[in-house]
Amino acid sequence: MQTYKMFIDGQWQDAAAGETFASYNPFTGEAWAAIPKGKKEDAERAIVAAQKAFTSGPWPKLTASDRGHLLRRLGDLIAENAERLAKIEVVDNGKLINEMLFQLKYIPQWYYYFGGLADKIEGAVIPIDKPETFNYTRHEPLGVCVGITAWNSPLLLLSYKLAPALAAGNTFVAKPSEFTSVSTLELAKLVEQAGFPPGVFNVVTGFGADVGETLTTHEHVAKIAFTGSEATGRKIGEVAARSFKKVTLELGGKSPHIVFADAEIDNAVNGVISGIFAATGQTCIAGSRLLIERKIHDQFLEKVIALARTARMGDPLLTSTQVGPVTTTQQLDKILGYIDIAKKEGAECVFGGGRPTEPEFSKGWFVEPTIFSSVRNDMRIAQEEVFGPVLAVIPFETDEEAIQIANDSRYGLAAGFWTQDMRRILRMSAAIQAGTVWVNTYRTISYMSPLGGYKHSGIGRENGLASIQNYLQTKSVMISTASSVANPFIMR
Ligand code: NDP
Repeated sequence: MQTYKMFIDGQWQDAAAGETFASYNPFTGEAWAAIPKGKKEDAERAIVAAQKAFTSGPWPKLTASDRGHLLRRLGDLIAENAERLAKIEVVDNGKLINEMLFQLKYIPQWYYYFGGLADKIEGAVIPIDKPETFNYTRHEPLGVCVGITAWNSPLLLLSYKLAPALAAGNTFVAKPSEFTSVSTLELAKLVEQAGFPPGVFNVVTGFGADVGETLTTHEHVAKIAFTGSEATGRKIGEVAARSFKKVTLELGGKSPHIVFADAEIDNAVNGVISGIFAATGQTCIAGSRLLIERKIHDQFLEKVIALARTARMGDPLLTSTQVGPVTTTQQLDKILGYIDIAKKEGAECVFGGGRPTEPEFSKGWFVEPTIFSSVRNDMRIAQEEVFGPVLAVIPFETDEEAIQIANDSRYGLAAGFWTQDMRRILRMSAAIQAGTVWVNTYRTISYMSPLGGYKHSGIGRENGLASIQNYLQTKSVMISTASSVANPFIMR
């Protein structure tokens, strides 16, 4: 067992109550790390430290270029530690080493990009219509920002938030998922090594009900950036509204993945598989509803099943593995529950549909890649997020019907479609209600491109130039150059 401490005010600390909880390896089912079980008191200590670091000490005195330099140094340290951090993520959340290595080698880009942006946050001089008045704007940091993350890609989701928040001059308290806290604590070691002043970045580990709730209700928190489920997002949106905190909510999805008869079929098959079975389906952007044009429905589905059949399940630390375990036992039960629901609803299970029976999978939290055909879009399997390797297949006849089915969802995080018809590409891209639309590709993410949801998939966008505005507020300064003050009883 590895034992970890929390990082508050530049100090490595146990939880005030001295309690810990275990983090489990989803492949072996065994506890591998002891994590401090923070509570209200620990969360409050972190907020006080972040508030102090925001208003006094070295951080507010740094130039924007200095902040950028620190962020780029952090990016370098993540790059140097990419392999080690990737392995930790795999042991903690069960995702494939190939996927986590890719993520960890890519994550430094967030720190380089937003580090570069730190000293390019410029206000404007406004040629205001008031005579003898000089008007300019300043973009100022908000204060203490809180980042709460889900378990599926802990450091990637955190970096979407942390890099712009620090670039803008805020301080930060992170609360990772109780299921995958280790990588965020490891990142804190690199933040310390990069030379960020104490209190600028803090990590409080523990449970949503204690730590999460304190962080989202505390009066000194100015902004909450959250990635997680719709249910928790709703709670956070409600409590944040009471104290007028700024919020960004990145929530769930039930993304449509549409294949037209004129698609390049082999590419589309690969895209569909990557949309739902990569990361064992535990991605918010999973293409979990497969809409196939009826005239190619049977032959396309056959090809998807044939490729799914070749997917190698196994130890996520092996580069040859293609499907790993799911991250938690709760998630495993939830996925199996949805498989039962789909069967009861009358969907036809044409592939997978349970836990693998081979002895090598007996300890880990494995579920077979599963495909349901004959799905109607009003079934729960087509409307609710499973967050697992379960694909619901729905046929359609026309473009209009594809759009209607795609948009008949309370979610709107992402969508994908495959066609070679340029007019259709433009029409469909405009008609689909989703924050990201992929055409002839799927699951492409960049630090430069906005990510976020329509409808119940969230509020706001992360990534891209504009996302730094999530962490800034605008001040308008007006200076009179007049030598006398005019009539005090009227507006100027
Ligand atoms: P949860 O909503 O259960 O948890 C997310 C985080 O919120 C965890 O750190 C959790 O802590 C914390 N939390 C729980 N309750 C509260 C509370 N009352 N106040 C404050 N914080 C709280 O989501 P999951 O971890 O299960 O993640 C899966 C979900 O995340 C899926 O719906 C998925 O679609 C979504 N997601 C969205 C992404 C996007 O970019 N749109 C990307 C990745 C995932 P604890 O772990 O201790 O409960």
